[in-house]
Amino acid sequence: MSPLDQHARPLRNLRVSVTDRCNLRCQYCMPEQDYVWLPREDLLHFEEVDRLVDVFLDLGVDKVRLTGGEPLLRKDLPALVERLAHKPRLRDLAMTTNGVLLAAAAADLHRAGLHRLTVSLDTLQRDRFRRLARFDELDRVLAGLDAAAAVFPGFKIDTVVIRGVNDDELVPMVAFARARGAEVRFIEYMDVGGATHWSPGQVVSRQEMLASIAAHYGPVTPLDETSSAPADRYRLEDGTVFGIIASTTAPFCADCDRARLTADGMFYLCLYAAAGHDLRAPVRAGDDAAALAGYITRIWTARSDRGAEQRLALGDRTTLIPASALRRNPHWEMHTKGG
Ligand code: SAM
Ligand code: SF4
Ligand code: SF4
Repeated sequence: MSPLDQHARPLRNLRVSVTDRCNLRCQYCMPEQDYVWLPREDLLHFEEVDRLVDVFLDLGVDKVRLTGGEPLLRKDLPALVERLAHKPRLRDLAMTTNGVLLAAAAADLHRAGLHRLTVSLDTLQRDRFRRLARFDELDRVLAGLDAAAAVFPGFKIDTVVIRGVNDDELVPMVAFARARGAEVRFIEYMDVGGATHWSPGQVVSRQEMLASIAAHYGPVTPLDETSSAPADRYRLEDGTVFGIIASTTAPFCADCDRARLTADGMFYLCLYAAAGHDLRAPVRAGDDAAALAGYITRIWTARSDRGAEQRLALGDRTTLIPASALRRNPHWEMHTKGG
């Protein structure tokens, strides 16, 4: 039986970060020169992740997404996928990756039982990719996408849209995804920890995105769906479906059933939460499943987080956390919390 939080939201969705390290430095996520990394000895072992996922399943979670940092940097990741994929109560096991290491990993992930895959890709232009991600890796990502298309038909491509950076690529990205049998989802630029250069003027709203897609492709029809998934989906006249995640201008906190587990076992109730709850200590102290479930239930039932809505209500807003402050707590960063 799923516990309900203070706004009657169940706990259904868990994002599990498997590492805080990354092989890119996307300007909207990790723009700084230096980072404070989590101590390696603090990272949860696969058995510990497995035990915690079982407890979350007991509490009603049925969707898990592996993320990071870059999850493919975690050694032997398919072994973790294999442990999780065959749990009968886990309806959906997905992963989000930047795709750099995907070409060699896609088939292994599929064989290990991963259900669904999302690849992040913000531009199809090589120079722009290098400026945005600070590594010249577009070719490897494209090879990764081809490998993904072969084994994960209908996979997703997530694109963060930033004004003056890649907002002229909505139309080519729709065509690119369609050609690979993928579904692109455009994400509004968020002022999360790590986005130290964020400004309101760089946010391209859902309305603007729809207008520029419709100007090229013709009428766009919203799909009539009820789900707690953050993306609103739309259909073009030729049947192509794409999504928009309006996390900044139209937050979906009211239905948010998502929690996050960092690579070192901190349990976060919201992407914007200032503090998490340590699950590594009780796991390493040998607490049994019932004790862990009781602890997690107490934390979830006290949850009242509505981070993105509160940010929106501020009206005039700047970056959430300045770069100088981020160094005090690596958990405030999106790449550590698990985007
Ligand atoms: N490294 C993997 C990747 O990039 O797919 C997984 C982790 S990354 C933190 C997860 C997602 O968060 C990516 O799709 C990324 O584009 C998104 N993200 C990071 N910073 C963001 C921001 N400021 N606004 C919106 N989305 C952001
Ligand atoms: Fe980019 Fe993902 Fe790495 Fe962040 S964690 S810098 S979004 S690849
Ligand atoms: Fe959920 Fe927090 Fe995101 Fe709102 S801001 S949708 S409460 S994670």
